[in-house]
Amino acid sequence: MKPTIRTSTIAVLLTALFCTGAIAQQDPDWSKVQIKATKVSGNIYMLEGEGGNIAASIGEDGVVIVDDEFAPLADKIQASLKSLGITDKPVRFVINTHYHGDHTGGNAPFANSGSTIIAQDNVRKRLISGGTAGNGGSMKKESKPAEKAALPIITFEHDVTVHINGEDIRALHFPAGHTDGDAIIFFPKNNVVHMGDDFVRYGFPFIDVASGGSVQGMIDGVEKAITQLPADVKVIPGHGQLSNLDDVRAYTKMLRETSAVVQKAIDDHKTVDQMKKEKILEPWAKWSSDFLNADAFVETLFNSLTNHKGAFVKHN
Ligand SMILES: [Zn+2]
Repeated sequence: MKPTIRTSTIAVLLTALFCTGAIAQQDPDWSKVQIKATKVSGNIYMLEGEGGNIAASIGEDGVVIVDDEFAPLADKIQASLKSLGITDKPVRFVINTHYHGDHTGGNAPFANSGSTIIAQDNVRKRLISGGTAGNGGSMKKESKPAEKAALPIITFEHDVTVHINGEDIRALHFPAGHTDGDAIIFFPKNNVVHMGDDFVRYGFPFIDVASGGSVQGMIDGVEKAITQLPADVKVIPGHGQLSNLDDVRAYTKMLRETSAVVQKAIDDHKTVDQMKKEKILEPWAKWSSDFLNADAFVETLFNSLTNHKGAFVKHN
């Protein structure tokens, strides 16, 4: 499948983020980034710029956002929220779905203008320590320890609920999925969920095995989340277009099938190179992207299923 323009844009950006070394030179031109806001349902909006999707609850009590893209975009995100015409109130709370920089990059500027950052315990730990994200193979990216202002002020182990704008917005930790600190955020009154990078639309997902992620945890987490959701829930993915539960089911089906194929190859004592050479994920080629092709996904699944986190692991 040829990637759509939007998918390839995401792929280019993600590729830039994961090419180690010259990250700074490969930053997008922030001045050209536009924030697109879409009404999802009731008082929930989805904001897309560069980086992870943002969910926003906008109401009489103020604004809560889930994830905040990159620091240079904070003013544009704030301006976009105001331009929705519903409120000129500031962002009171930012909930991070996980620690990656394309979801938490705006933490410091939002905190400096008065927002309170909320995240799972491991998000704060990884922001403090910095470290290396990666699939245990060819994909890796260093991150420096975050500045103090970027750190979540309120953390939770299992779940937390923010009672605001007439809704009980609940962040629930799903261990060992995309990372070890992923939260899925439920907006029950509006029938919306933000799945963070446990569910993405750019193809084979990046699973940060080096940061405690695992494919089995990702499958279990997403399937468990599905059981808690109404059939017609609107799903905001970590990256890509607004989705529904059928999209999520197609994604977990692919994860199950590809994991089973790689597990069988592991049981048959095949090496990663043999698996790549034999193109064992060919039937799922349409999920391949410039950012994460079938070979990189073979590495990811192999390292996840054999619990090999790579030589560069800093955590655990
Ligand atoms: Zn991520």
